[in-house]
Amino acid sequence: MATLEIKDLHVTVEADNSTKEILKGVDLTVKQGETHAIMGPNGSGKSTLAYSVAGHPKYTITQGSVTLDGEDVLEMSVDERARAGMFLAMQYPVEVPGVSVSNFLRTSATAIRGEAPKLRTWVKEVKSAMEQLQMDPAFAERNVNEGFSGGEKKRHEILQMELLKPKIAILDETDSGLDVDALRQVSDGVNRVRATGEVGTLLITHYTRILRYIKPDFVHVFANGRIAESGGAELADKLEAEGYEAYTKGGASA
Ligand code: ADP
Ligand code: MG
Ligand code: MG
Repeated sequence: MATLEIKDLHVTVEADNSTKEILKGVDLTVKQGETHAIMGPNGSGKSTLAYSVAGHPKYTITQGSVTLDGEDVLEMSVDERARAGMFLAMQYPVEVPGVSVSNFLRTSATAIRGEAPKLRTWVKEVKSAMEQLQMDPAFAERNVNEGFSGGEKKRHEILQMELLKPKIAILDETDSGLDVDALRQVSDGVNRVRATGEVGTLLITHYTRILRYIKPDFVHVFANGRIAESGGAELADKLEAEGYEAYTKGGASA
């Protein structure tokens, strides 16, 4: 079983001509088959954690390590991370002009599997995954992220996850901007992938509502650039009732 291990991770960004430390020693282990939720106030550094693990050039790792089965993830290119079995939804936030969803997915699958999936089975797989996510078949022919609505972006993210079958998936704010029906469809998608037992998921969110549909095995409260508390699903209920105030007192998170 694959294990993602984040140890004492410190990360800085350059902003307004100064260097700001955003992550201040994050420790987290996610194993294949487990679902972890990271919850915390806006500005606490949740997305920075996701981007840092994804290898976004804007974020400088100043201390600590990220490994997948002992292999140094921080030394890997973005492609190598994907081939190693990591799915980082935020890797592809940009428009990809002239590349359809269908071609993009097949190219990604080819890169990850080391060979092109057989066209006929692949077309069936894509079709069935799209049906389950209640996506219009015409979506497959649209250019990646071009004019996608918030909900379409999130569905596309889950579609990729279903088809690419990662060992470790990091989903940042998968629930934001979704209406109740879309939230349920996207959650159902995550739960289908989860039911295979083959993926370890890190679900990053500000709101507790997605956790009504996806029951995490572990909940971590993120505040001021580190994990302030860890627990089971019951911790999410506590957060829903009490908010994050207890964790942000004296801190600088906005
Ligand atoms: P969260 O996802 O928890 O809302 P973020 O990781 O987005 O938090 O942001 C944490 C802090 O880091 C914020 O103060 C934010 O302004 C700052 N930050 C994050 N990314 C950048 C960036 N690329 N450039 C400048 N500041 C950033
Ligand atoms: Mg934010
Ligand atoms: Mg964020």
